[in-house]
Amino acid sequence: MTTKLSPPPASVPHSSIFVPELVYFEPDALNYPKGRQIHEWAKQQGLDIHMTTSHNQIRDLPGETELEKYRIAKRTLVVGIRKTLKFDTSKPSAEYAIPIATGCMGHCHYCYLQTTLGAKPYIRIYVNMEDILGAAKAYIEERAPEITRFEAACTSDPVGLEHISGSLKELIEFMGQEPLGRLRFVTKYHHVEPLLDAKHNKHTRFRFSVNADYVIKNFEPGTSRFAERIDAAGKVANAGYPLGFIIAPIIWHEGWEKGYEELLEKLHASLPTDTTRDLTFELIQHRYTKTAKNVIQRRYPKTKLEMDEEKRKYKWGRWGQGKYVYPDEQANALREFITEQIFDKFPHAKIEYFT
Ligand code: SF4
Repeated sequence: MTTKLSPPPASVPHSSIFVPELVYFEPDALNYPKGRQIHEWAKQQGLDIHMTTSHNQIRDLPGETELEKYRIAKRTLVVGIRKTLKFDTSKPSAEYAIPIATGCMGHCHYCYLQTTLGAKPYIRIYVNMEDILGAAKAYIEERAPEITRFEAACTSDPVGLEHISGSLKELIEFMGQEPLGRLRFVTKYHHVEPLLDAKHNKHTRFRFSVNADYVIKNFEPGTSRFAERIDAAGKVANAGYPLGFIIAPIIWHEGWEKGYEELLEKLHASLPTDTTRDLTFELIQHRYTKTAKNVIQRRYPKTKLEMDEEKRKYKWGRWGQGKYVYPDEQANALREFITEQIFDKFPHAKIEYFT
């Protein structure tokens, strides 16, 4: 099969809601209401719809070069079934990663999905939510009477897909009814409207990923602008959700102190005071593996992302593949400075971790 697509844009525009160019349905997806609903939506949008013959295998994605294939994959949606119902762990932010989608339309240069999704960078939405929620319930029961936290953004940015899937709202309302279940996810998108009236029962912590201007401008094409994210943060806090921010990846760059100081100042100035009573921050310094570096340099050949092993400290990884992080002196300087800035502006906030 050949599919004609317009050439990928040289620069990826910010902010617009995601509409894929190609949509594939796995054989069983249409047996589920969510599969049929997405099919209907895709038809109404006039999208290029295909059926695949097998599970999680798209063999005929168009594109001449690897780069072109990658960019097209980022605009391709696959609607399928989640077969693996064994959840990965998700330390330090939660006990488990809950999979409702994989892949993302964003083009953040540093994104770890570059390596974890490898040759399959297309976006997959899972239609068998009942199975996924059933598995979550079993995990909650197994840990009772402890609380079990689930992270929904380990493999995707589910807020950016919500207008297509509706899965996050289902998940939020499911956790809202689970006395021992908690949900959290993070987003760089501002399309929060479908989630504002969800019955969350304060069991979901809604986090936004924020960063210094330099990082957003240079490394986060295809995501919502800072001001849009903050505006959305105000809305979700007003809808009663516990709110959080993840500053990640924290990048050492010229003028980083000013950059991160301004970030906290802007947050402080834009967030209504009554939305900051129960605020959390998570801080993650930039890290990369050798494999990630290779992939990033192929996909974003002009990136300004500094990945020089000479300037980094090697940190052994649990599964053999070590990571390059900042040397202790730099990491401590970043941690101390940003921590001070947070407590200066938000004295009641909780910093959950720096890693
Ligand atoms: S928005 Fe998040 S998941 Fe999407 S590309 Fe950027 S870092 Fe990756």
